Amino acid sequence: MREKITVFGSFVVDLMARTPHLPVPGETVKGSFFKQGAGGKGFNQGIAAHKAGGDVAMVTKLGRDSLANIALDAMDEVGMAKDYLFFSEEVATGIALISVDENTSQNEIVIVSGACGTITDADIATVEERIKSSAYLLLQLEVNQDANEKVARLAKDNGVRVIVNTAPYQPVTDEFLSGCYLVTPNEVEAEELTGVPVTDLQSADRAAKVFFDKGVQNVLITLGSRGVYINTEGRSEIVPAYKVDAIDTTGAGDAFNGGLIAALAEGKSLSEAARFANALAAISVQRIGTTPSMPTRGEIDAFLAERG
Ligand code: ADP
Repeated sequence: MREKITVFGSFVVDLMARTPHLPVPGETVKGSFFKQGAGGKGFNQGIAAHKAGGDVAMVTKLGRDSLANIALDAMDEVGMAKDYLFFSEEVATGIALISVDENTSQNEIVIVSGACGTITDADIATVEERIKSSAYLLLQLEVNQDANEKVARLAKDNGVRVIVNTAPYQPVTDEFLSGCYLVTPNEVEAEELTGVPVTDLQSADRAAKVFFDKGVQNVLITLGSRGVYINTEGRSEIVPAYKVDAIDTTGAGDAFNGGLIAALAEGKSLSEAARFANALAAISVQRIGTTPSMPTRGEIDAFLAERG
C-alpha cells in the first residue's frame, strides 16, 4: 500500500557562509567558505518523504529567476514530479542567508520567504484535485498562513488527514488546529503553543491535553536525541531515538516529518511510523546539509535491519 501524499510548504535557497566571527552591525567580514543549496522546511520534508518511498506531490512557489533552478535541479536529481509548482511573476525565489562562526558554530540566519510567502487562492485551485485525492497533507508554518488555512480546510472537508509540523513557531488559530489528524511540534514549539514546558512523559501528556482540547486528533512531540513522544488513542509513549554520532542536526525535524508521513502513507501505525522516522533522522544527522543528507529507502531499510 502506498497512499498519496501532498507536501505543501516553503522553498528557499540556503546561502551559507562560514566566517572567522559573526559580523557586528556595520561590519564587513571576509568569509572563508560559501555554499548554496535547496532548503525550506516544506521542500526538505517533501524530498525526505519522496526519497523514503512516498508518492509525494511537492507544492511550493518559486520566482522566475535563476534561484528557482536550484529547486528544479534538486527535484530532477531525485526523480520528483514538478507538476505542482507555482511561479510568481513579481516576487523572487525565497532565500535564507546563513552565517556560521567557524570557531563556535553559532549562526545568524535571515530568511526572506519571497515567492513562497505569496501563495494565492488561484494557485491553490490548480492543486485542489491532487489535495482532495491525497490520504495525507503535510504543512509547516513557513508559507503565508492564509494559504495554509485554506488548504487545511479543503483537506479536512474532503477527509484528507492533515499533519501540521508547527515550525517555525508562530501563533495559529484554534480553528486551524481543530480537526487536524496530527501535530508534530518540537519541545520548544510545544511549549510555545500550549504554555506547558515539556521535559518528560508527564509534562508531554499535559501539553498533549491542550492540543486535544483544541480538536487535534493525535499528538507527537519530537525530543531531539531523546526521540519522540506520541499520544494516540488514549495511550502515550516515548519512542527513543537511535544512538548515533550526530555531526549536523540542522533539518533533523524535517527529516523526521518526511519519514513519518511516508511511513503513515504505507499504512504503518503512528508508533511504527515514529520508529521509521527516527531511523531516517538518525541517518541524516550523521551527514552535513539538509536535502543532500536525506537517506534513500534502501539506506533506511538497511539501518533498521541492523539496529532493529
Ligand atoms: P527539530 O530539528 O525540529 O528541533 P528535534 O531536534 O526534536 O527537531 O529532532 C527531530 C528528530 O530527529 C528527533 O525526534 C530524532 O528522531 C532525530 N534526532 C535529532 N537529534 C538527534 C541525535 N542527536 N541523534 C539521533 N537522532 C536525532
